[in-house]
Amino acid sequence: MSVTQIQFLDVGWTYKTLAAKMDAAAKRVLESGWYVLGNEVKAFEKEFALYTGANHCIGTGNGLDSLELALRAAGVGAGDDVIVPSNTFIATWLAVTRTGANIIPVEPIEATYNIDPEKLEQALTPDTKAIIPVHLYGQPADMDKIMAFAEEHSLFVVTDAAQAHGAVYKGKMIGTLGHAAAFSFYPGKNLGAFGDGGAITTTDADLAKRIRSIGNYGSSEKYVHETLGFNSRLDELQAAFLRVKLDVLDDWNWRRRNIADIYLKGLKDTPLILPVVPQWAQPIWHLFVVRCEGRKGLITHLKENGIHTAIHYPTPPHKQGAYKHMGHLSLPISEAIHREVVSLPIGPHMTAEQAEYVVKTINEFYH
Ligand SMILES: *Cc1c(COP(=O)(O)O)cnc(C)c1O
Repeated sequence: MSVTQIQFLDVGWTYKTLAAKMDAAAKRVLESGWYVLGNEVKAFEKEFALYTGANHCIGTGNGLDSLELALRAAGVGAGDDVIVPSNTFIATWLAVTRTGANIIPVEPIEATYNIDPEKLEQALTPDTKAIIPVHLYGQPADMDKIMAFAEEHSLFVVTDAAQAHGAVYKGKMIGTLGHAAAFSFYPGKNLGAFGDGGAITTTDADLAKRIRSIGNYGSSEKYVHETLGFNSRLDELQAAFLRVKLDVLDDWNWRRRNIADIYLKGLKDTPLILPVVPQWAQPIWHLFVVRCEGRKGLITHLKENGIHTAIHYPTPPHKQGAYKHMGHLSLPISEAIHREVVSLPIGPHMTAEQAEYVVKTINEFYH
């Protein structure tokens, strides 16, 4: 009766694995008597800027705020149009809406799930100010093509890197691409905290300064408020935890790559549509997403065998109640993707043996 259980996500494993260092980090912060914008945030910002190769890193409250802060610092607001992928987590869209700008969804390339650069031209309006490419599932978007288009039309580009900590595009770290990169440190991300957190990386010193000010009450000098800002800062405790996690990020991303390799090899002869990795991409496999018609049967079969899956995402943003005024839009690629995708378990908590078991169980379902 007792079946092996393969969890989709195991954040508890993270703490167990790093407990001594995490306890020490927490103690250090609690004993310091300084809980907001202290040495841990400063040190993490420096370390993450170094890791990504960007010169500047600004800690924020979460990934959604990171996106909004970057857009606002670039002057995006009411009356502007912002191009976003039609298939993404809703936060990408919400960041645009919170600035007062309009969303222009663009369909993805089916093979990579990332925004199709060939479709940018037809989405352009006289009011287009920015593009948010998302490196969905940890796979880099085709940034050279996107940046060439953005330069031609003077558009601001902030990438949504919430699923791509450590991913590489043509030899360059994701955090250095575009004008800014927005990260989330939600616990389930590849670089996850034990609560909410986020950051923005950029190579532009002026932009970094504006972002920092808007996220700190529109202030760069205490009690001087030059712009209308809000409060979105990376927490001191989370920064201390993230420093521990950053040390193991590459190692843990490699564990994900090993699992992905086992899936890619072992599932070749099934009807599943497997992720396609362009030659220039080094994904970090935040998610391993396969596509099939009638996914319900597969999900049930896996569940009966102790394998937990998820769906990213069941409903596209334009079909959500929050965007019902856009519900009439026809985005057939995105709608088909949302109907057919299944995320297999992947993460540093999994062993190669468990991945082989997932492969075996899926092959049994199809043969
Ligand atoms: C997680 C995520 C976000 C939002 O990050 P939060 O820290 O939860 O606000 C934004 N975009 C994408 C693609 C994400 O996966």
